Amino acid sequence: MTEVIKIAYLYEDLMNTYGDSGDVKILSFLLKEQGYDTQVDNISLGMEFNAFDYDFLFWGGGQDFEQSVVATDLQRHRQTIQNYIEADKPMLCICGGYQFLGKYYETSGGQTIQGLDILPFHTVYKADSRMIGDTEYKTEWGTVRAFENHSGRTYFDDKSVLKPFGEMIEGYGNNPDDKQEGMRYKNVIGSYSHGPILKNENVARAIADRIVAAHKLRMTATVK
Ligand code: GLN
Repeated sequence: MTEVIKIAYLYEDLMNTYGDSGDVKILSFLLKEQGYDTQVDNISLGMEFNAFDYDFLFWGGGQDFEQSVVATDLQRHRQTIQNYIEADKPMLCICGGYQFLGKYYETSGGQTIQGLDILPFHTVYKADSRMIGDTEYKTEWGTVRAFENHSGRTYFDDKSVLKPFGEMIEGYGNNPDDKQEGMRYKNVIGSYSHGPILKNENVARAIADRIVAAHKLRMTATVK
């Protein structure tokens, strides 16, 4: 029987901008190549969720309004997501989903949306520019080309803990000052890249391999 890899897509119905759900489709395709079926669960408002039931967590981008709705539901899942991340399990968070792992996001409307405060960074708004356009940056897996559209500017509070995902060649990434894109912590990648980002095959294959490894570990743990 074909083994099933389980993916949790956090608030899929509310957080999916500029092709982000394509990331999950690309991963499903690559996992199929490796002989696995995938089950993708939309974890939405009010639903029960145990991150350890899954081999991969995905979180897409969102408009400010949808983010403010998600923020009313989110804190219930803080502990399970934090434990999952600390256990070195794989996760990809895009734009609004990335912002939610940090302390807070100040919107252009003057609202402060509380994040999960799992990782030491914060996101602010500054009048005068929304960061929109094509991006290109260097990563461990080669040059990534994508698209960004955000008003939040993300700044790391503890650079000894967080590493950038990439070094900018074109576009803004985290903010207009640091010339860096996204964040890495353990097996988590946060990024402002839509498009979807995983059309960049090297990154997609690297993440797919991590998901398979996480799946094998989860299966061994379950079988015992
Ligand atoms: N609403 C957030 C911002 O504008 C995130 C945008 C997004 O996820 N595309 O910064």
